[in-house]
Amino acid sequence: MKKEVVIGLEVHIQLMTNAKMFCHCSTDYIGKEPNTNTCPVCLGLPGSLPVLNKKVLEFATRTALALNCKINQISKFHRKNYFYPDLPKAYQISQYDLPLGVNGYMEISLPESEEKRKIGITRVHIEEDAGKLIHEGDINSSSYSLIDYNRCGIPLAEIVTEPDFCSPEEARIFLVKLRSIVQHLGVCDGNMEEGSLRCDANVSVRDAKSGALGTKAEIKNMNSFKAVKKALQFEVNRQKKLLNEGEKVIQETRHWDESENITISMRSKEEAHDYRYFPEPDLLPLQVDLKMIEEIRKSLPELPEARKERFIKDYQIPEYDVEILTSSKALGDYYEKASSLYANTKILSNWIMGELIRYLNEKKIEIEDSPISPDNLVEMLKLIDKGVISGKMAKGVFEKMFKTGKGASQIVKESGITQITDKGELFEVIDKVINENPKSIDDFNEGKEKALNYLVGQVMRYTKGRAKPDFVFEAIKQRIKKI
Ligand code: ADP
Ligand code: ZN
Ligand code: MG
Repeated sequence: MKKEVVIGLEVHIQLMTNAKMFCHCSTDYIGKEPNTNTCPVCLGLPGSLPVLNKKVLEFATRTALALNCKINQISKFHRKNYFYPDLPKAYQISQYDLPLGVNGYMEISLPESEEKRKIGITRVHIEEDAGKLIHEGDINSSSYSLIDYNRCGIPLAEIVTEPDFCSPEEARIFLVKLRSIVQHLGVCDGNMEEGSLRCDANVSVRDAKSGALGTKAEIKNMNSFKAVKKALQFEVNRQKKLLNEGEKVIQETRHWDESENITISMRSKEEAHDYRYFPEPDLLPLQVDLKMIEEIRKSLPELPEARKERFIKDYQIPEYDVEILTSSKALGDYYEKASSLYANTKILSNWIMGELIRYLNEKKIEIEDSPISPDNLVEMLKLIDKGVISGKMAKGVFEKMFKTGKGASQIVKESGITQITDKGELFEVIDKVINENPKSIDDFNEGKEKALNYLVGQVMRYTKGRAKPDFVFEAIKQRIKKI
C-alpha cells in the first residue's frame, strides 16, 4: 500500500539577549572560562529567585508575531521536572498549557511548484537552557564528565509546528526560512553548528488512505540543514521498511549519528506526565498588554518574504537567485551592499552564488567573515568590464583574493596577469596562428564558422589566456578575409 510521510518539528532558538533569562549573568559564553558566567539564580541555589528579563519577552513576542501567532495576553511559567547533572535546580522553567504564542503559520515555497504551502505553528513558548556536559576520557576505562553552567539560564524560544510536512525536503526548506526569519528579526544568530538553533524532528509514516497518524519517532542531534534532511530520509526509510515487513514502529527518541549516517534508539519517549509539570510558584503569570504587542508588531523589520519580493522587483534577477540570496540575513546584506556599487545585478548574483558560496562552503566560512568584501568583489568585476582581465582570468584573481584578502587591483598588479591590450602584440600572435593552421583557414573559407574557434583557442593558448576572446575572434575573421 502507498505510504505517506508525516513530519513535525520542534525548534529551539537561542535568544540573543545580553543577559540571561532570569538573572543578570552575561549570555556571552562561547570561549569563556567554564562556570564564570554564573550566579545563585542560574545555579539554582536555595533562596534565590528568578526575575524575567523583559528583552526575552520582547524577542519571543517578535518571533511569535513574525510566525503569525496569536499572542496570549496572559501566559504562564511551569516547572518541567527532571534530574540531570546539567540542570542544577532539577527542573527547567518553561511554559506548558498557556504558552506565549499559539496558532500561527509560515508559508514556504516548494521548488517546481507555483503554490505556497502553509505550515501550522502550534505554539511558541519561552524556556531556559540547561548547562553543558563535557565528556572526557575513554568510555571504557577512566571516563568522566565535566559540567559548564555558563549556558544555564540562557533564554530559548521553542517553536513547535503542526505535523504538516510531507517530506524531509519540506522540513529542510522550512528550517532554512525560519533561520532567515529569526536572523532578520535580530533575535537569534541561527548558527546550527554552535547550537543556537536546534531542531528535533518527529517522523511517522502511514497508509495514504488512512486518516489517522502513525506512531512517531523523535530524532535529535542534527546540527546542520543537510543533516536534518539526511536523518529524516533515513528514518522514513527505516519506518517504511518496518511497516512493509508487518512490524511496528516504536514511539521513542532516536539519535542521529552523523558519522554512521543512521538514527539510533536513545530511550523510550517520555510523556508530559513524566515531567510532573506544575505552575512555577516563583513567577507571576506573564502579562503582555495589547499596546506592547502592537508596538512590537509595528516595529517588525522587513522579513525574508518581503525582501524577496523587493529583490525581484529592484534587481530584476530570477526568483531562484533571490531564494538563495535571501536565505540568510547576512547573504542578503552582502548582495545589497554589492548592488549599491555595481549596476549589473545578475552578474553579481552569478558570482556570489557561484564562486563565492562555493569557496565559503569549502572553507566552512560564514558570509559575514568572507575574505572578499562586497567592495572587493565589485572592484574585480570592474576590472573585467574595463578589459584589464578576462572573465576566465578573474576566476584565478578571485581565488587569490579569497586566499589573501587582498584587493583585485593589487593582485593583478603584483602578478602582472593583465589582459593584453597592446594590439600590435596580439596581432603578432594572431598572424602566427593563422600561418600555422592553413587547414582551418580553408575550412573557414568553405563556410565552416567553427574552424575559427580552434584558432581563437590557439591564440588563447599562446597568450596564456591573456587575450580577449571576442576581440581575437573578430580580428582573425578580418585577417582571413583580407588574405
Ligand atoms: P508529544 O506529546 O509526544 O511531545 P506533541 O503532540 O506535543 O507530541 O507533538 C510534538 C511534535 O510532534 C509536533 O511538532 C507535532 O507536529 C509532531 N507530531 C505529533 N504527532 C506526530 C506524528 N504522528 N507524526 C509526525 N509528527 C507528529
Ligand atoms: Zn546567573
Ligand atoms: Mg509535546
